[in-house]
Amino acid sequence: MTPSATDQHSLPSNSTTQNVLVLGATGSIGTATVDVLRQLNEVDKKQCWHLWGASAHSNAKKLLQIQSDATTWGTNIAPCKLLFSEPSLGRDFLAENSELLPDAVGLGADCLVQAAQAAEVDTVVAAIVGRAGLESTLAAIESGKRVALANKETLVMAGPVVQEKLAASHAELLPVDSEHSAIFQCIQGANNPPRKIILTASGGPFRTWSKEQMREATPKSALAHPTWDMGPKITIDSATMMNKALEIIEARWLFGLSADAIEVMIHPQSIIHSMVEFADGSVLSQMSPPDMRLPIQYALTYPDRLPCDSPPFDLKKNWNLDLEVADLERFPALGLGFEVARVGGTAGAVLNAANEEAVGLFLDGKIRFTDIVDGCKDVLHHHHFEPSPPLERLLQLDDWARKELRRRMNLIS
Ligand code: NAD
Ligand code: MG
Repeated sequence: MTPSATDQHSLPSNSTTQNVLVLGATGSIGTATVDVLRQLNEVDKKQCWHLWGASAHSNAKKLLQIQSDATTWGTNIAPCKLLFSEPSLGRDFLAENSELLPDAVGLGADCLVQAAQAAEVDTVVAAIVGRAGLESTLAAIESGKRVALANKETLVMAGPVVQEKLAASHAELLPVDSEHSAIFQCIQGANNPPRKIILTASGGPFRTWSKEQMREATPKSALAHPTWDMGPKITIDSATMMNKALEIIEARWLFGLSADAIEVMIHPQSIIHSMVEFADGSVLSQMSPPDMRLPIQYALTYPDRLPCDSPPFDLKKNWNLDLEVADLERFPALGLGFEVARVGGTAGAVLNAANEEAVGLFLDGKIRFTDIVDGCKDVLHHHHFEPSPPLERLLQLDDWARKELRRRMNLIS
């Protein structure tokens, strides 16, 4: 029997409340996070999971629905703050809802940073897509929060800056990305670092396509991911395998590994989320059907494990767990990922920005699918590399790389 919200709130008198801020609440990870919080309020006997605030960039209606749903969880605290990162969206919303108190609503990118710094917030789920998630994620780290990190682009752009800020605060950075969560789970209790990690990749919709076929790929075919239902940017990244490139770089900074200790294997079923090899040759993996609610929940409740709504791994079914060697020839993004993980410095910010720009152009029908990675390679190899850039320089290069990508695609002069 599932306990009701009322049962949940016969919690012991010494129970605590976790105030959670979900940045990017209306997206794929954001929606899954809200579902995890709802369900945690049914199963957690120690604490309440209060949705303190949630942000949206374009879907005010969905944000309002999230706020309304959260009032039924029985956490009995103030309604979730509504943060509109796109100010015009928030202004329109306020014009229609003038009765709302000003401190219940935030407008613009700054309100995300302020929310991430708020003293009441315990945990920030960084689920904004792309470079737009950088400042709020850094603010949450500086403010010593638990940060459940889905926004891998922050680590790709600014890995050393994140490491510095982590060292100077009491923040905890917990991976939400399923591969990195798998690795994090596999290294619990190990006194020695792994000798190697093996990131698995589904291979995306073009796993078996030739380069010539990929040249003609349309946004519709690239958006049809075989195993995961995700936002458009990461879905295109999965098709080019730039997602795995970003994850190689993410793993390099999260786990402090050298690029040579990272491998990629293709695993089309997305059951083995990644593997870790230790000095004695033991290989551990974390397995579960593809459902982001599991890694999201682990980042929230770590080190506790609580029941989760994600489907169980049914061993009686005839699972075919295939592993294939990744083809760096057909998927040159992987080579770029290893290269950037090796050199660090300004390379991550340039690769990330060029890729974000190229994905947008491909989705708008302005460039070919194969131009995405070709363009990123060009921009990366023509930038002035610096080994230890400050954050301001990374932001300048983000801007430069986007323009340079457009220039190389003959879209601006
Ligand atoms: P999505 O497109 O579904 O959602 C993105 C969210 O970011 C939305 O809430 C949107 O409103 C917000 N947003 C968009 N532009 C913004 C801007 N300029 N300023 C502020 N907010 C903005 O994306 P997603 O698939 O949920 O992915 C989110 C992040 O999680 C990405 O970094 C992605 O790489 C990572 N991730 C996603 C998955 C997945 O299964 N979807 C898995 C692993 C990692
Ligand atoms: Mg992943």
